Amino acid sequence: MDAPLYLRPRVDPPLASLLTDQHFLRSLVDTLGSPLNVLLPDVVVENAARFRAVYRRHHLTGRVYFAHKANRSSALVRRLAAEDPAAVGVDVASLAELQHALGCGFTGDRIMATGPKDTAFLWLAARVGATVSLDSRGELERLSALVRTHGLARVAVLVRLSGFESAAGHGGSGTRLLSRRSRFGTPVRDTEGLLSALERNADTVEFAGAAYHLDTTSVEEKARALEQCVLFMDECRARGFTPRTLDIGGGFGVGYVAEAEDWERWTTALTEAVLGVRPPLTWRGHGYGLRNEGGTVRGAAALYPAYRSTAGPGYLDELLSLPGPALGRPPATLLLEHLHDLYIEPGRSLVDQCGLSLARVLDVRPADPDSGQYLVHLAMNAGDMSLEEHGVLVDPVLLPRGEDAAGDGEPVGAYLTGNLCLEGDLITRRLVSLHRLPRAGDLLAFANTAGYAMDFHAHHAQRQPVARTVAVERRGDSWRWCPDEDYWPITPLGEQPDEV
Ligand SMILES: *Cc1c(COP(=O)(O)O)cnc(C)c1O
Repeated sequence: MDAPLYLRPRVDPPLASLLTDQHFLRSLVDTLGSPLNVLLPDVVVENAARFRAVYRRHHLTGRVYFAHKANRSSALVRRLAAEDPAAVGVDVASLAELQHALGCGFTGDRIMATGPKDTAFLWLAARVGATVSLDSRGELERLSALVRTHGLARVAVLVRLSGFESAAGHGGSGTRLLSRRSRFGTPVRDTEGLLSALERNADTVEFAGAAYHLDTTSVEEKARALEQCVLFMDECRARGFTPRTLDIGGGFGVGYVAEAEDWERWTTALTEAVLGVRPPLTWRGHGYGLRNEGGTVRGAAALYPAYRSTAGPGYLDELLSLPGPALGRPPATLLLEHLHDLYIEPGRSLVDQCGLSLARVLDVRPADPDSGQYLVHLAMNAGDMSLEEHGVLVDPVLLPRGEDAAGDGEPVGAYLTGNLCLEGDLITRRLVSLHRLPRAGDLLAFANTAGYAMDFHAHHAQRQPVARTVAVERRGDSWRWCPDEDYWPITPLGEQPDEV
């Protein structure tokens, strides 16, 4: 067998210490079933504090809005609601998320409504005094009509922009490229209609600022967008508006793989496997977007860059410090000079290290004869652990049953298969290297799944159970838990608030 290609997960404390308490994790699965999601609400607050520290370093004002869509949990949203109202808000992208945020203790003035909005969503956002990030001029007209018809107070709105120029030529001679197209927002070169609508509707909406959210990992592309938003806001001021907020969305990223070397080895091996110079690393030779055309690798790897040297708050710091592509001054300086508030909407990166997903091993058997590979069948399906929608799954951590040590035995390659009666139900299409062959009854723990992986794609197909979610907290030497929906950030977990 080839040397195992591990993708060891990045686990920091307290997630790392939770993973070592196998007794506790096993008792949770025994009580609540498999799959099971475990969340650490205290970590989301630590992450928010790290983002706030970047603001302080750059002397910036503004709020960190948690992009709720990354996780459905109540515990995480309630824990954030208990934070400083001036520092932490929540970004909701549906009527149900808005209702949830309000029920978790967020007041309307700390809520940002983004994404496509139906009338009920717009009405409730306006009614509770949320800020509305306007997707289009049509949405502005609908919002204005609602405010007028129902006698609501003026609504603060941000203008979501898109279609930024991403590579202006040097010395005016180069080509101008547009950044990737987005189906959200108004193209920055096409805002006239929207601006005159804002003027006409000044009695119902207050133009508070500009917003963007780019689906890219490129810090340069984001810096260009930021600059163009600042310039746009200058033009708006010249027209008599008073925008003072710039919302730069999310996408600060998470590093899932601990070692750069693991990631390089695996991605190189994937290319070699696609070329056929080494055995497949994936189920049925899946290429993650790469293909072999006459001995040359073509296509683009649709992979999340799972190893990141900077991510989350570090990425924000880098973005704010980058020399501005057109104006020369770093984004932080531009924001300061203009006295603009900076809003960010981190989803994935705010819930970094906030949780894990557990699955019980049901059955283990050889894959194709002579391959030396195994199928490890789990009480979980691809909807319960969908990190792969955005990238490559990292290795699960084996929590052995009974007194076995995880280290006993030989490394093996295994495909992790799900509990649906579907050929395609694999937890990952990647051949996973495990330090030893799991046994029925062992648990596999997938680390760092709170962002989009643990519940974003969960479904009820075949009436298989959807994972329950619990919140956990360290107290002294042991861990306490409660169902996610019973968590309130009032008393230490496990104590009844009414008995204190
Ligand atoms: C999804 C989304 C976010 C969060 O993105 P992450 O990559 O999870 O940080 C923020 N803002 C908007 C408008 C979004 O659609």
